[in-house]
Amino acid sequence: MVKVLLALLLAGIVAAVAFYIIRINRRLARGASARKHSEQREQFRNHVLERLAHGAPLPTILEAIVRGVEQENPAMICSISLLDGAGKHLLIGAAPSLPDFFKAALNGIEIGIGAGCCGTAAFTGQRVIVEDIQVHDYWAHHEEITGKAGLRACWSEPIRSAAGKVLGTLAIYLREARKPAGADIHLIEQTANLAEIALGRSRADQALRESEKLLSDILENVSAYIYVKDTQGRYLFANGLLRKLFDAPMEEIVGYDDYKFFDAATAAERREDDLRVLQGGETVQAEEVSLNILTGLTAVYLSVKLPLRHEDGSIYALCGISTDITERKDIEEHMRHMAQYDGLTHLPNRALFSDRLQQALAAAKRERNHLALMFLDLDKFKPINDTYGHAVGDLLLKEAAQRIQDCLRASDTAARIGGDEFVVLLPIIEAEQDAGMVGEKIRHALIQPFELAGHTLHISSSIGVAVYPQHGTDEKLLVKSADIAMYHAKKNGRDNVKLYQPGMQEIIQ
Ligand code: GH3
Ligand code: MG
Repeated sequence: MVKVLLALLLAGIVAAVAFYIIRINRRLARGASARKHSEQREQFRNHVLERLAHGAPLPTILEAIVRGVEQENPAMICSISLLDGAGKHLLIGAAPSLPDFFKAALNGIEIGIGAGCCGTAAFTGQRVIVEDIQVHDYWAHHEEITGKAGLRACWSEPIRSAAGKVLGTLAIYLREARKPAGADIHLIEQTANLAEIALGRSRADQALRESEKLLSDILENVSAYIYVKDTQGRYLFANGLLRKLFDAPMEEIVGYDDYKFFDAATAAERREDDLRVLQGGETVQAEEVSLNILTGLTAVYLSVKLPLRHEDGSIYALCGISTDITERKDIEEHMRHMAQYDGLTHLPNRALFSDRLQQALAAAKRERNHLALMFLDLDKFKPINDTYGHAVGDLLLKEAAQRIQDCLRASDTAARIGGDEFVVLLPIIEAEQDAGMVGEKIRHALIQPFELAGHTLHISSSIGVAVYPQHGTDEKLLVKSADIAMYHAKKNGRDNVKLYQPGMQEIIQ
């Protein structure tokens, strides 16, 4: 009896031990399988991240993520949907195992509470767990397709950007009705996180592409020459307009310096400015006159050059922006000319003459020199206009101006100050007689016949001469004296030169 009891007790102990061993083994096996799953998932995650780093396209990455979930859990059907630009509709991004009719029905679905799991999750920003699709309100509108696809459970997780904005959803469907266990939640969270990284990366890539395109559009279309040069002055970049000017593609510009595109003197000048930027760290703004050796044209550029620096402050390149201001310069030059020169004869006008007279007076005072001022008025010019017309009168004025000019040295100035009135400045003379001689020379030049428009015309001039300092020590007095002398020349029968003499004034009055 005791033996029997002992045998039973032993058998019980053996059974209990065996039972515990089996439980422990099972637990160990489960642990090993969970470890295996977690290792697999880690490997898979690294694989996806690696592909992402190598720039694989987003659809490929999303499909890899979805397939990874399905391979690890054959009972699951996984999909990723993306919110459209307006943030109102879900578009299927990857769902290789869902039937086409199901995808067609859900693609483009408007998000909102009750718009399936994903539509609701995207709308609320919350995880949605539908344990049994057949009895849940969220799927009431899609009963037919879920039945046909044989789907019972659906778990959906919002995929968010780093800033928390919903970008899309991850969905896991099952053919049995059930809630997710702890391991499933872990899987959902990890997978959504991986999708977040992929979407974030894709968005960042797109933003970068868009900003690069914007920058490139600006650089290529702006009507300025934009370039980057390295510390040796070799081009690293040339925008569209500069490539056009150099008539060369980028690869024939990059690596070359200005000596390839400009004459040596121009290139050396550019290099000087470049060094101020690259070595001195200055921002240089300069007007540059350049002869393009390819086109043979000279142009004026307004250039701004600034240093480009590494984070530690060291300069690695310069960026230059040059605008062609040749036309503006020409217009400015033309306006300046118009403001200072007579439009008909192109001699200096009264304003420029006055400026030159003041300068000559200041120099004469300083150097104790003599200078002469002449006033000249054509005699009986009106009848020329009246007889031959204003246009012929104009031709005569032009020709007379040229003859006056021809009687002078380069340092002298002749100006037209009125209809047929001219003035002449001789900034340095030895004696009064010298001025008289020049006056005579001019008078003689003007009495020579003019052959104009088929007519032979005759004219003469009355010239008054005043000398500094004898006849006036400032502009006003000297002008007055020359004018009085000229009046006397007219009074004296015209066609003569009169040197101012004290007392002439009284005669007029
Ligand atoms: P005088 O010997 O007294 O100087 O007689 P004048 O006929 O030359 O008379 P005045 O010097 O007073 O007149 C100058 C004329 O020049 C008056 C005007 O009709 C003419 N005139 C003024 N400006 C122009 C111009 O730009 N072109 C032409 N063709 N004639 C001009
Ligand atoms: Mg006259």
